[in-house]
Amino acid sequence: MVKNRKASTSLEAASSPEQEHLLGEGGGALYVHLPYCVKKCRYCDFNSYAYTDQNIDAYLSSVLREAELRAPGLRPQTLFVGGGTPSFIDADRLKSFFDNLNDITGFADSVIEATMEANPESFDDETAQAVFGAGINRLSLGFQSLRNDVLLAYDRVHDVDRSFKAFESARNAGFDNINIDLIYSFPGQDLNDWLSDLESIHELSPEHLSCYELSYEPGTSLTKLRDAGRHQQNSNDFAKQMFDLTRAANSSAGYLPYEVSAFSKQGRQCQHNLTYWNSLPYIGLGAGAASWQTPYRVMNIASPEAYVGALAASESPHQEKTACSPTTILFDALMMGLRLENKGVSFEHLFNLSGLDARQHYATQWSKFIDQSMVVFVEENEGTYVRATALGYLHLDTILGELLPDDVVLTV
Ligand code: SF4
Repeated sequence: MVKNRKASTSLEAASSPEQEHLLGEGGGALYVHLPYCVKKCRYCDFNSYAYTDQNIDAYLSSVLREAELRAPGLRPQTLFVGGGTPSFIDADRLKSFFDNLNDITGFADSVIEATMEANPESFDDETAQAVFGAGINRLSLGFQSLRNDVLLAYDRVHDVDRSFKAFESARNAGFDNINIDLIYSFPGQDLNDWLSDLESIHELSPEHLSCYELSYEPGTSLTKLRDAGRHQQNSNDFAKQMFDLTRAANSSAGYLPYEVSAFSKQGRQCQHNLTYWNSLPYIGLGAGAASWQTPYRVMNIASPEAYVGALAASESPHQEKTACSPTTILFDALMMGLRLENKGVSFEHLFNLSGLDARQHYATQWSKFIDQSMVVFVEENEGTYVRATALGYLHLDTILGELLPDDVVLTV
């Protein structure tokens, strides 16, 4: 994430000319954030909240109000409903919400992909049928682990058996495009155990896998436990072994890596996430949701209650809105594009986004990285791509550190 933003103050900002531009073109990507969960997982630093007695109807109405302001008739190409745990909301409410969102945006007829995130404890036959019938055609299921003791240590509220049942509910309802989220490198996890878990997942045959290394984000309860000496983080060397094993096992099972954590069967890459990684425009609705409309980066108010309050008072739900500088746009596009394995990002695309010639702008750095076999230039699709090599892929942080412009501050 890049910190380089200013605040906006009025409701006019929600329908300002730069956003009209996207709406005028039609298409694009739409993200919707539903922030409630049964409880907070130990490793989670997302904008998500354990449900106590928050007013879910007021929140859903506010998201629809924001959709009316910012995305009427958008007809997005992709929709992604994330959280939080969207499936935490009951089937009837979800169906009604998607029907209303469709009335406003027309997504059901326009999308090539409409994903909803779900957690096993709250995804049953009823919810599966309701959301599939309402136009959601891709599901992202948070399995995270195939070990009950690890799920318990993460403070997850489902067991492994429940994960497999949720997958079955999805298939029975008609979902033929399913992602499974997994986390590896839990302390004590053995390479053979992880390989065996992956093989079980391969047998299940989802279309997509997202495999994340366990991360220790500032402020999470997992990080606090580690810092208090009550939890031993794996070494970087061991995490690297798991990363390599994950890639090899998934590739040999037909799940091709196309981003640091993403693997898919042929033709099943997540189109919505490719929008992010290609720095293409998107609108985010809901508490804490981000939007990108070159050169404007917008962040909504993070607190669901404050977000609901702002819309109820006819105030802007935006917390920050920044016109990014060309060097920031260029850096951000490289930061995202270099994650795309075997592809990278073309100099033509970088120029279209930023107005800068990235080949010239970073001439000294490219020369060094090419000498170090970290990046290559590749002629492809009538363009020249800058692409991380296998070695560079392991050192993306180092590469980006040297590309970082002076006016950009990375959050920690
Ligand atoms: S279910 Fe997902 S969003 Fe909710 S707390 Fe756990 S990891 Fe975070």
